[in-house]
Amino acid sequence: MAMAPGSTSATAPLGSLERVLGEILARNADAEYLVVKCGLAGATDRATFRAKVPMVSYEDLKPSGMSSGEPKLIPAVKDDVDRRALLHSLVMPVINNRYVPGLGEGSGLYFLFVKSDTTTPGGLPARTVMTSLFKSDKFTNIPYDPRRNYTSPRAAVLCEDTSQSTYAQMLCGLCHRHSVRRIGATFAYGLLRAINFLRHNWAHLAADIDAGELISHRVTDPSVREAVAGVLRRPDTELAEFIRGECSRGDWAAIVTRIWPNTKYLNTIATGSMAQYIPALDFYSGGLPIVSTIYGSSESCFGLNLRELCDPSEVSYTIMPNMAYFEFLPVQDGDDGDAGQLVELAGVEAGREYELVVTTYGGLSRYLVGDVLRVTERGAGAPVRAPQERAALRRFRQDQRGGSAPRGRARVESFPGHYVIYWELVDAAAAMDGGVLDRCCLEMEEALGSVYLEARVAVGSIGPLEIRVVAPGTFEELADHSVANGGASVGQYKMPRCVTAPAMVQLLDSRVVSRHLSPASPDWTPSHRLGSTAQTSPA
Ligand code: AMP
Repeated sequence: MAMAPGSTSATAPLGSLERVLGEILARNADAEYLVVKCGLAGATDRATFRAKVPMVSYEDLKPSGMSSGEPKLIPAVKDDVDRRALLHSLVMPVINNRYVPGLGEGSGLYFLFVKSDTTTPGGLPARTVMTSLFKSDKFTNIPYDPRRNYTSPRAAVLCEDTSQSTYAQMLCGLCHRHSVRRIGATFAYGLLRAINFLRHNWAHLAADIDAGELISHRVTDPSVREAVAGVLRRPDTELAEFIRGECSRGDWAAIVTRIWPNTKYLNTIATGSMAQYIPALDFYSGGLPIVSTIYGSSESCFGLNLRELCDPSEVSYTIMPNMAYFEFLPVQDGDDGDAGQLVELAGVEAGREYELVVTTYGGLSRYLVGDVLRVTERGAGAPVRAPQERAALRRFRQDQRGGSAPRGRARVESFPGHYVIYWELVDAAAAMDGGVLDRCCLEMEEALGSVYLEARVAVGSIGPLEIRVVAPGTFEELADHSVANGGASVGQYKMPRCVTAPAMVQLLDSRVVSRHLSPASPDWTPSHRLGSTAQTSPA
């Protein structure tokens, strides 16, 4: 992400769409893109903007030479951090005042991560959004506030080595186990990863707690060692024994509440694609409420959940109109849409789906974020259901006219091509008994919709679906690979649903332990047809 100077305007009152757009355009009035490409000639009014500026996606803007799998480079300005911090600062008052009194007495165990900065070919510094936030004084130099009392020392959060950082954050969280009232990570995946880390490292952690110092050498960074030493002041055999007792039982159900008994909720994004992790979070926490507070991206923050303790499936995010200038592209079947169809916040209809389009202070104009949102209510801030899927996936599904998007990849090196789904199983041996996985292939095919089935059964343009079972730990390796190769930090990582980058496919294939193909042709009769005659082929 590129950084450039800018002034503070995070205080724009809600509802002032015209003003926000005017501010953004005035600030970027000299930008070559707006002057030369759009012919805006310094105009800052909404009518000229709407008449002249086209809608664009990342593909239209990305620097040439970037290949698939590389992280997106999104322009950012200095005061973006102020806007993000402003939204984050609203989270605790909303929870505290309306739903969970008494939170201020304790602390929060949050697993937060940064990544090292890089430089773009043009010489601009680039870093992840969360890194910008955590390194800023908005995060570090805040006056004492019990609602922002975190167990992780600043040095541990700012440590770029994920393993050392997680170790130190976990250790400090264990030392504060009675004061912890909420446990979180940016995305649900990050929280599960932290719990998994405890599963693999509890013996070292207990040994360090027993010794009252970092004897395990799992942390070598001097500033992190010093910060941990401030927490781990003396040997605590009782705590060490407690941790050994809980973690050696082989029973990980409700481990979170067993170790941190005063936790009131998990604070992590578990909506949209992250909803897949809810069962695992429920298992480890014994069913604690899951609070998903913010909807945002590298481009901008978008919205806030104002009913934070509701079920994750019910969560809506209220769009915050001072974060960016928002427009919405109605989603309709078989139509990519054009800028003429864009509506503003006041024009959205409850129950309809839209693609989110933003114009940001950082200089993106009418940029398709790639999320499809369902508006749940009309009115101030137009609450939207979290993105259930990326727009690209939706278009892919539309191409299939009714089929559902598989997770995995389309294999087209052979003819006919076929879908390959990678599975990491908790108990692979048991699941493989009796050809269960072969039958899973068939069941998945039968659930893939009529056009897939027509192509598979009648046309023969798609071959039998394949499941490849990968060794335990492969998906975590995939995350490590993505983080190590310039992707997001662990905290921002999202498991890809569709893998295209050759290095990732290679990694997955190198960990395959068994392969399974549909043993028969799926059940399909022409009466199931949806009326499409399009020939379907993978990817
Ligand atoms: P990134 O720019 O890598 O941080 O990714 C941003 C993307 O993460 C968004 O465009 C959404 O697809 C997803 N995302 C962010 N916040 C949420 C949320 N609260 N619920 C569901 N998905 C989210």
